[in-house]
Amino acid sequence: MAHVLVLGGGFGGLAAAHELRRRLPPTDEVTVVAMSDRFFVGFAKLWDVAGLRPLLDGTRPLERLRRRGIRFLQAEITSIDPAARQVETTAGTLSADGIIVALGATYQPTSAALLENGAFNLYHAEALPGIRAALEELTEGTLLVSILGAPYLCPPAPFEATLLLEERLRKEARRERVNVVVSTPAPLTLPVAGADASRYLADRLTERGVTVLTEHAVETIDRETQTVQFEGGDSLEWQLLLAVPAAAPPPVVTKSPLAGPSGWIEPDRHTFATHTDRVYAVGDCTLIPTSTAQLPKAGVFAEAAGKISAANLAADLYGGDHITFDGYGFCFLELPGKQVATVTGDFYAEPRPDVRLTPPDEASFRAKQQWEQERLTAWLG
Ligand SMILES: Cc1cc2nc3c(=O)[nH]c(=O)nc-3n(C[C@H](O)[C@H](O)[C@H](O)COP(=O)(O)OP(=O)(O)OC[C@H]3O[C@@H](n4cnc5c(N)ncnc54)[C@H](O)[C@@H]3O)c2cc1C
Repeated sequence: MAHVLVLGGGFGGLAAAHELRRRLPPTDEVTVVAMSDRFFVGFAKLWDVAGLRPLLDGTRPLERLRRRGIRFLQAEITSIDPAARQVETTAGTLSADGIIVALGATYQPTSAALLENGAFNLYHAEALPGIRAALEELTEGTLLVSILGAPYLCPPAPFEATLLLEERLRKEARRERVNVVVSTPAPLTLPVAGADASRYLADRLTERGVTVLTEHAVETIDRETQTVQFEGGDSLEWQLLLAVPAAAPPPVVTKSPLAGPSGWIEPDRHTFATHTDRVYAVGDCTLIPTSTAQLPKAGVFAEAAGKISAANLAADLYGGDHITFDGYGFCFLELPGKQVATVTGDFYAEPRPDVRLTPPDEASFRAKQQWEQERLTAWLG
């Protein structure tokens, strides 16, 4: 009987655990270990702040994995020994015949420090009640959404949030007295999707009166004066500041032998195998190079990698073909009025990712809702 450990109960971990359960004999054990006791898709946080749907409605307990023959252990992983295929957790030591690491990302210390100064972390579920209350009170001044650095999760999300909040203010007749601004240190809104998609997104923002500040890296945030100072001299007073932190690998990853020179795990970008036999790594805790930058940190890619790594680990254990990821994927781009565009294509293409923007429509919005529900039901229904 084999025992397989999946570290993390997010997109990558859940996709991997279910694929392993499907491929391994019923007598083999699949255990998911995660600090969190629940799962929701990232964009559900934006629907919450935009007043479209409470986060709780899209949240499911990881405990439900047991219904599908997958063991769930809620514990913090404190160290990983890949060679011994052993992990230390707050619930004891676990050994396995194979491991899939899907531990997500944390925040860069510089971003975490900036967030101490009165900004709300737009990406942190625990910040949502504060954001909701602050939004209720916002009647004038500037709503600033600021990307603090790169990489950050789901490149379109800060811009989607800006557009959804702009729409909410408009519907609630508060827009006239609230200035809406979005800032990014990057030269384009969506560098990963290329110049055309970036221009398209910038146009959607400016046609709604949103000020788009590209090449604006936040240097300091002053809580007293409610002012952001950008590198290069510009500054901006805000009434409500929603910040998007730059991502960093989790400490348990950086201190493990799995970490590459970047601090992230750098597995094979086709098989997701690490340097250690029967140890795979997927999702936001990895750095996957593309011809121009790196694969976006997105649930879509974590899920694809989770499934592929699980198939390959099952093949390591029982024989059969190994499979590979071809770089194809997509990102949703949600726009006001329940419209969704998609950026789809080959993210591994040379000399640059070959991705195209499909114009928005309501059918794609419904497809996005369905995409979420399918995962909640299949993984934790
Ligand atoms: C606002 C927002 C909107 C988004 N929209 C989209 C979208 O539209 N499309 C899309 O594809 N992606 C989207 N994303 C990105 C997506 O949510 C992430 O890329 C995805 O969750 C990554 O999956 P993962 O499995 O790598 O990590 P995660 O889902 O973050 O899971 C990590 C898991 O590891 C556990 N963990 C971490 N450290 C430890 C430890 N030391 N011990 C035990 N457990 C630990 C956590 O508890 C968690 O269960 C969005 C993200 C945000 C924030």
